[in-house]
Amino acid sequence: MSLVVLAGPAGVGKGSIVKWILENFPDFMLSVSSTTREPRAGEVDGVHYNFVSTAVFETLIAEGQMLEWAQVHGKHLYGTPLNELTRAAALDKHLLLEIDLQGARQVSEKIPGALMIFINPPSFQELERRLRSRGTETEEQIQTRLTTARTELAAAGEFDHQLTNLDLEACARQVVELVHEAERGS
Ligand code: 5GP
Repeated sequence: MSLVVLAGPAGVGKGSIVKWILENFPDFMLSVSSTTREPRAGEVDGVHYNFVSTAVFETLIAEGQMLEWAQVHGKHLYGTPLNELTRAAALDKHLLLEIDLQGARQVSEKIPGALMIFINPPSFQELERRLRSRGTETEEQIQTRLTTARTELAAAGEFDHQLTNLDLEACARQVVELVHEAERGS
């Protein structure tokens, strides 16, 4: 079982990459994060996120139940429950963590064997176009995400591997290949 961190700016396509891997490779599973933000249309509690109150989230932190957590885009709290690692180990699956840069840094520090992968957009302009085209954020939220994106892109060099999401399937296949290579110890 490998712990795989997928980081990269909002809008780069991490969610689509994860979805493609889960649909095509049964040896992978997604770590379900906890968050204090409201569910979006179509999001299912326990599947996309565990949607919790700030009070519950703070209790989880205080009880040491979070592998990592961060306040993302200066607003809501997001974190990876430690029991996702136990769940993946029990199922003998590779665990994909789709998390932000602050969280990725915490995982890298706590779990030196984690495979750290950063997904780059083809260009900043393309990132902005993708963010706008998904139509889920207000203009203010888009501007916040673009500001965070600049900070995240500047930290790409901290990761074990950097990929560019020019083509969703090609990029997702590269992620799977990196994990399988690491598993083989090559
Ligand atoms: P969204 O609200 O669009 O689902 O996610 C916003 C950001 O939160 C994304 O960049 C995503 O990677 C990050 N995120 C989601 N879950 C976690 C988590 O468990 N920990 C951290 N640190 N970031 C997360």
